[in-house]
Amino acid sequence: MKISQEQAISLVKRLVEIESPTEDVDACRAVVNEANRLVEELLGAPGEVRDVKGHPTLSWKSGKPRVLLLCHLDTVWPKGSFAPLWQVEGDVIRGPGSYDMKAGFVQAVMAVAALEDRDGIQILATSDEETGSAASRALIEESARECEAVLVFESAINGKVKTARKGTSMYQVKAIGRAAHAGLEPEKGINAMTALASLISSIESLSKPEIGTTVTPTTFHAGTTLNTVPAEAVVEVDVRAFSREEQERVDTGIHALRETPSVATIEVSGGINRPALDPKMSASLFEVAKESAAAIGMPPLEDASVGGASDGNFTAALGIPTLDGLGAVGDGAHASHEWVSANGLTERSALVAEMLRRLLK
Ligand SMILES: [Zn+2]
Repeated sequence: MKISQEQAISLVKRLVEIESPTEDVDACRAVVNEANRLVEELLGAPGEVRDVKGHPTLSWKSGKPRVLLLCHLDTVWPKGSFAPLWQVEGDVIRGPGSYDMKAGFVQAVMAVAALEDRDGIQILATSDEETGSAASRALIEESARECEAVLVFESAINGKVKTARKGTSMYQVKAIGRAAHAGLEPEKGINAMTALASLISSIESLSKPEIGTTVTPTTFHAGTTLNTVPAEAVVEVDVRAFSREEQERVDTGIHALRETPSVATIEVSGGINRPALDPKMSASLFEVAKESAAAIGMPPLEDASVGGASDGNFTAALGIPTLDGLGAVGDGAHASHEWVSANGLTERSALVAEMLRRLLK
């Protein structure tokens, strides 16, 4: 089935106009159901919609899956927070979640629709990606394990596919001291705030910016009233790194804070959330993508490494070849200038169709 650019734009519009912030499960269900209608129209048969740990999910399969096309249909935009809801000006399509990543979903379905033989394909669209995929992670991993390759339809970055993504870790470091009246007997207190503050620079020193490892204290809370020695203080720490080894090095370093001599008791919670997407896991698929781009007459396809993690990090960590950034061309994920290229819709779906032909041969 050949889909014109005009039709492609109207498919994106149908999904964008059903706003679907992750927290609003009914809204997510509405967009997932609409996505399934779109699948039925383009592929001749609907997929299966079901709740996975409370989050609506769409799965469409043909035959025994060999290639998993991974998408999400939730957005970071609360209803009514993005205006106008829909706008097309020349090549530029604007709308909440258009770039991240409703256009990517449409491109995935268009690519499959373009194929003569669709056996071996699974399309999976979840609705809790933007909050970390706690509900859908197990299903994503289980589906990926069956497959030889995972294609992720998160947006391209400046037209480039994503061959490496940093992993994320999150920590809370807490100091527990003892409260006391700051005027009457401060010497009986143990100041958790100053104890924890003295550790902040050792936390930051775990960074290795030269290889992309960042360790960023992001929130700090301490104290209850002006005249009380703070009994408790908490710092949250955001960690990003390109390799598992780096994530583990920082993990060890942060847990070692418990052993630091301190007047307060130091507790550490948290750990590695999404593992890094190692470029080794995307290399073979990037080759297929470059060959496919050349075969369909596209300009040479380039790749990029990015800081943010996606569901592709989970599948790559299982050892399944994973290529990300096969979705929309445009810009402005999670930003008010979010937009998608109309030409990109047809170009990138043709690219993925060619990749699928090669991968399923
Ligand atoms: Zn996304």
